[in-house]
Amino acid sequence: MQDIIIIGAGPAGSTAARLLKQQGVDVILVDRATFPRDKTCGDGLTPRAVGMLEKLGVIETFSETGKRIENARVVAPNSTGILDVPMPAPRKTPPYLYTIPRLTLDDALLQHAIADGVPFLGQFNVLDVNISADGAEVIGKQNGEAVTLHAKAVVIAVGANMKLLRTLGFGPTDKHIVLAARGYYRNVKGLSGNYEFRFDGVPLPGYGWVFPLAEDGMANVGVGMFPKADGSPHPMTARQAFDQFVAHPALQDMLADAEPVGPVRGFPIRSDFLRSKTHSDRLLLIGEAIGLVNPLTGEGIDYAMESAEIATHHLLTALQTNDFSSAAFDAYDAELREKYGWLFKFCETVLNKALNKTALNTLVTVAKWKPNLKEMFSDIVLGTGDFDAPVTRRQILKEALFG
Ligand SMILES: Cc1cc2nc3c(=O)[nH]c(=O)nc-3n(C[C@H](O)[C@H](O)[C@H](O)COP(=O)(O)OP(=O)(O)OC[C@H]3O[C@@H](n4cnc5c(N)ncnc54)[C@H](O)[C@@H]3O)c2cc1C
Repeated sequence: MQDIIIIGAGPAGSTAARLLKQQGVDVILVDRATFPRDKTCGDGLTPRAVGMLEKLGVIETFSETGKRIENARVVAPNSTGILDVPMPAPRKTPPYLYTIPRLTLDDALLQHAIADGVPFLGQFNVLDVNISADGAEVIGKQNGEAVTLHAKAVVIAVGANMKLLRTLGFGPTDKHIVLAARGYYRNVKGLSGNYEFRFDGVPLPGYGWVFPLAEDGMANVGVGMFPKADGSPHPMTARQAFDQFVAHPALQDMLADAEPVGPVRGFPIRSDFLRSKTHSDRLLLIGEAIGLVNPLTGEGIDYAMESAEIATHHLLTALQTNDFSSAAFDAYDAELREKYGWLFKFCETVLNKALNKTALNTLVTVAKWKPNLKEMFSDIVLGTGDFDAPVTRRQILKEALFG
């Protein structure tokens, strides 16, 4: 019997596997895909994601395939309001963003785990997990053959695989599912070199992005469509929203001579961490499997790696005490809620109140003349700030009025 089986070799699973192996844990990592595999994504890494790559000692791996970016840019629905947000001076996170294609990022993280001694089973599709007093049984199929693995505990890192999450009793609790789609383009004109979020051309509530990649003139272009405030789904499909976004004159200018690289792909994003269940007996969930994706920006690579690190500490304690009960894992849940709770609440509030034309046009104009407000906002949303306590509405209002 293994100590730990990790299901899913995305940023969450590979990070957890590597960190556990480095602590001498008998861990095995499985994934239904063959690597390198792509994952539909914007390929954007926030400063806290870059911070995790530095902490894991792997940032150098991406010196050629990754692009370092210094600014985030927000374009208002009226297209004329443009807000540049430079990444703040180094604090707890590095002062820059990155783009790294997921084909490269995820494979590299997995290869680092394998190099540290983690056994990896690819093309291993997990169908179910049975829990008993003696351990956990992972039931799957590898290359069409039924396989069962046994462990003391299992880490679920399957991202937004709702089907398996529902089978295991961890399905999304509400309709906080973002529909998203992205495409790659070569020869894009006028790339600003910024991490560009655009609200012009996308049906609201939603956002578009243009993220430049390391290859000159190449960009990842995409859209995310939020459900409405009452929880009802966005009336458009992600593909319809994508087509509307790239048909907007601003995008048409950029894409006039561009060629698409590969097909446009859609995938859901689960961002309902505030209402998700994170554990049960012998099961611990990490990354997007617990909705740990920023409800406002759709970024989840950072939280995937961070939650993997947090989970590692709790799994080491469980192994030492031989206590894998849900009650023992309550401490993991509490640590996550304390770290991310207020940030996710803040982002959901902004999402519900400000993702309309009037509010966004006003916000971009006001923030332009209020550097402190702008910095406070990006410090909260991108997680670059060193806040001792949650920032209150009163503090934000004070910056907006008097800052
Ligand atoms: C269109 C789009 C754009 C996005 N843009 C960004 C962005 O720019 N920046 C950002 O930070 N985040 C972005 N995200 C979110 C980001 O992709 C996820 O939050 C992140 O991948 C979560 O990492 P993870 O390791 O938890 O899960 P994943 O990366 O999804 O990895 C899960 C792994 O589990 C495996 N798996 C699933 N089911 C099974 C099974 N039954 N058996 C075995 N293996 C299984 C999968 O093959 C996969 O390898 C975007 C998402 C979408 C859809």
